[in-house]
Amino acid sequence: MIRYEGTLFRPPSEADSLILQATIGCSYNRCTFCAMYREKRFRVRKLDELVAEIRWAAERAPSVRKVFLADGDALVAKSSFLEALLDQLAAAFPNLARVSCYASPQSLQVRSEAEMERLAHKGLSLYYLGIESGHDAVLTALEKGVDAAEMIRVANKAQDAGVKLSTMILLGAGGRGLSQAHARRAPAW
Ligand code: SF4
Repeated sequence: MIRYEGTLFRPPSEADSLILQATIGCSYNRCTFCAMYREKRFRVRKLDELVAEIRWAAERAPSVRKVFLADGDALVAKSSFLEALLDQLAAAFPNLARVSCYASPQSLQVRSEAEMERLAHKGLSLYYLGIESGHDAVLTALEKGVDAAEMIRVANKAQDAGVKLSTMILLGAGGRGLSQAHARRAPAW
């Protein structure tokens, strides 16, 4: 069976997806507004545990078309681990159309464009990225760990690798003090 550890989060558009916890928690876990994984210590799960869960799911729901890899930034796991996981998913689910995950800017810094391209080729073709703001002062206040220019660079890297991005912006993240600057600062995509 599939054992989920702690509270599980997924994007609304993954409501009908099989969810696998490839990693537990978030390797960054410092954004001030995010309490999703505070209680979890980050780790990558063992591949054999995940393979057992995939087989269990494939026996019961062989028609799975979408898989979401939880938790907070599964993309930070080693590329060889992710490739092996994607191979297992492709073998187990013949109708699999897409695999997705959350991607922190830090995990996008770690993965090379070539790695992302290989992973996309094996099915990991959509990342959910929290951009939050295009304003450096807001990003600093949120402790996002990157400025707007770096956010743009890593997002472009993913898109150049052929990966689709679904992005989140936090309205009002600058509070009253930074709200005007936050709203007016248009990132130079
Ligand atoms: S990178 Fe994402 S999951 Fe991790 S703390 Fe920040 S918002 Fe939360």
